Amino acid sequence: MAEQNLIEQAESKQPQLLQHFIHLVTTNQLSHAYLFSGLPGCGKRAVAQVVAMRLFCQNPDADGMPCGHCAECGRILAGDNPDVVTVEPDGQRIKVDQVRYIKDEFAKSPVEGSTKVFIIEGAETLTTNAANGLLKFIEEPVANRVIFLLTTNKSMMLATILSRTQIVEFPALTAKAFAETLRQHQISENQIPLLDGLTNSLDEAKQLVADDWLANCQHELSRWFSQLAKHDDMAFVTVQTGLMPLAHDRDHQAVILDAIILLWQDTLQTKYLSDAAQSGFPELQTTMAKMTQSLTRNQLLKILTAVLDTKKALAGNMNIQSILETLTLQILADMKQNV
Ligand SMILES: [Zn+2]
Repeated sequence: MAEQNLIEQAESKQPQLLQHFIHLVTTNQLSHAYLFSGLPGCGKRAVAQVVAMRLFCQNPDADGMPCGHCAECGRILAGDNPDVVTVEPDGQRIKVDQVRYIKDEFAKSPVEGSTKVFIIEGAETLTTNAANGLLKFIEEPVANRVIFLLTTNKSMMLATILSRTQIVEFPALTAKAFAETLRQHQISENQIPLLDGLTNSLDEAKQLVADDWLANCQHELSRWFSQLAKHDDMAFVTVQTGLMPLAHDRDHQAVILDAIILLWQDTLQTKYLSDAAQSGFPELQTTMAKMTQSLTRNQLLKILTAVLDTKKALAGNMNIQSILETLTLQILADMKQNV
């Protein structure tokens, strides 16, 4: 992630929250303890850091945003301002010595400026003891201290922390901002629309593309769909040979079904929307267009209903292979019948 783009990142990911916090700073209303809660990659850290920059910036612009260029902004970007204390989990957790460091720093007065800012990522990984240790700093406002606790899993936070911080829920990224984030993490362009349909979490997206799982899934689903388009019974075999090896656990099974739903939603859009959103399966555009010409609206809706029902079947603990096989036979039958 290019650091010089931090302000742009915060602006593109969370424009409203950023504006809100800049307003709090410029009007001197910033509180002393916040819990930023939201999915990985949704801009929690970027917003906290830009707020820190704003507190120290020598030349904020007319909108109240930090300039991003002055010495103070530069030091924060470089992680080189002793009054901006940033901590992230060392491995699975925030370790005891990291907590000690936070406490020590909290007890010290600001070195140069008038404020000290604490940004603690992965706050849910604090042990109960550590979190309780931080409580007394959170409980009573200390002059010139601002603490931002960042979490992707609010449900793991202690109730005592939740009740003493201002909780700020970060909304999921817009499709555009999520796509931009995926690009920054070198995710292939032809996987971005599908990922956008499947998740809004950067971490989950990374897991899905790992070991080419998503690419293989896209490939096998395209094969399956093309076979269905030709009324080819081989689609049934593709379930066993192509899709089943990808369905190795419950999470991946659910993603396959979600991708199938997107596939048929895209097909329906191809039929009814001239300017369809970018498809998760760009290579199937021609096949989809052809298929929709040969199917009636009722046939398509019947298929889509069957596709949506697969999620209920999975939730009802039905075996994924029989779900996919039943669906394949159902679609082949629906395509033959002119309803
Ligand atoms: Zn500046």
